[in-house]
Amino acid sequence: MTRSESDSCPGVLRLHQAADGPLARIRVPGGQLTSEQLEALAAATVDLADGTIELTSRGNLQLRQVRDAGALEERLTAAGLLPSASHERVRNIIASPLSGRIGGWSDVHPLVPALDQGLQADSRLADLPGRVLFTLDDGRGDVSGLGGDIGVHALDETTYALLLAGRDTGVRVSGEDAVDLVLAAAHAFLELRDGHWRVHELPEGTARLTDHLLSRQTGLTTSSDIVEVGARQDVPIGWLVQSDERVALGAGVRLGSLPARTAEFIAAIERPILLTPWRSLIVTDLDEWTAEQVVRVLAPMGLLFDAASPWLLVSACAGQPGCAKSLTDVRADVAEAVESGRVAPSGAAQFPLAGLEAAEIVASGRQHWSGCDRRCGRPRGEVTDIIATPDGYRIIPSA
Ligand code: SF4
Repeated sequence: MTRSESDSCPGVLRLHQAADGPLARIRVPGGQLTSEQLEALAAATVDLADGTIELTSRGNLQLRQVRDAGALEERLTAAGLLPSASHERVRNIIASPLSGRIGGWSDVHPLVPALDQGLQADSRLADLPGRVLFTLDDGRGDVSGLGGDIGVHALDETTYALLLAGRDTGVRVSGEDAVDLVLAAAHAFLELRDGHWRVHELPEGTARLTDHLLSRQTGLTTSSDIVEVGARQDVPIGWLVQSDERVALGAGVRLGSLPARTAEFIAAIERPILLTPWRSLIVTDLDEWTAEQVVRVLAPMGLLFDAASPWLLVSACAGQPGCAKSLTDVRADVAEAVESGRVAPSGAAQFPLAGLEAAEIVASGRQHWSGCDRRCGRPRGEVTDIIATPDGYRIIPSA
C-alpha cells in the first residue's frame, strides 16, 4: 500500500479539527508523567479545553475543544511536554508499564528517554510518519503485541529481540545497543518507504528492513529461535506490590476520559505516574498508608481499582458529538449499558445480532463500541464489536 498523502496524526502544534472543536494530542513517551505535569494538564484542560483529559490506546493524552492553541503550546512547553516542535508527532513510545517495579526480565524505562532523545537529536527522523509506534517490552509480552512498528522485546536480563511490524526478526541485541538499533531501524524504514505510514504497509517490510539492517550494522547476531508475540490484555489494576515492597496502584479510567478534578487529586499524591496503553494509569512508589488513602479518596471519584469492574471490559470511539461520522453518541450508550448491568463478564456466549436499539444490547466480555464501521480505537485481540449502523446497532462477536 503506497500512500499519496502524509499522515494526518494530530499533535499540539497541528490540531485535529474534530466535530466538537480542535483536538490536541500530547505525546507522553513511555507513559512517564510527573505529578507536576499532570497538574499542568489538569489546569490546561480547565482553562483552555473541555475540562477532561483523554487517555489514548498508545499511552498518549488528548485535550478536546481547545480554545487557545498558542496558550496551550506555551503551557505544555513549560511543563516539559512539548520538548521538540519538529519531532513532537514522532515521539510514540510504549514501554511495559510495570517494568523495573514488578516482574519482567529487565527495566525498559531507562530506554525511553534514551530513545526519545535519540529521535529528537536526529533531524532526519522528524520525517517519520506520526503513525510509527515504538515498543519496549521487558519480556512479559504486554506491549510487543500492540501492533508496533519497531521495538525490542527482552529475552533475558541482557538480550533483546528486534521486532518489526510486531514480528520477531531473529536479530538479537544487547541492552546497551538496543536504542541505537531501534534508531537504525527507523532510518532504514525512512530509506525504504515509498509514502508508507507503517512498517506493515511496506511489501515484505519486516524481511526487507531486517536485511537492510544486517547489511549495514556490524556486530548484530541472529537466532532461528523466533519469539511469538500476541496481543495480551493484562491491565494492571488495583493494589500491586513492587519489588522494593512499596505499592503501585493501577487505576482504570472510564472510557479513558479523566476529569480535571480527578487528575488534580492524582497529581496531589506527588508520585510518578505511568499511563498505560489500556486507558488506565498507575500511581507508583506509594507506602501502604498512602495507597489506602488514595483508594479511599479516588474510588468514589470514579477511578477503577477493582479488576472485575465491567467498565474495564468496554471501550468506545469518540462518537457524537466529537466525530462527524458517528451515527450516535456511542459513549453515552455504552455508559448506560454498563450502569444498567447489560455488560456481562467474559465467558458468556456472544451471538451476532443486528438492528438493535442501544437499550436492547446485552453483550459479554471485552467489547468495543463504534459510531461507524471504521472502529477507531479498537483494542487488539479478542474483542466483540458493537457498531452503530443506519439500521441500528450490529454485534460482531470476537472470532
Ligand atoms: S469509529 Fe467512526 S464514528 Fe467512531 S471515531 Fe471513528 S470515524 Fe468517528
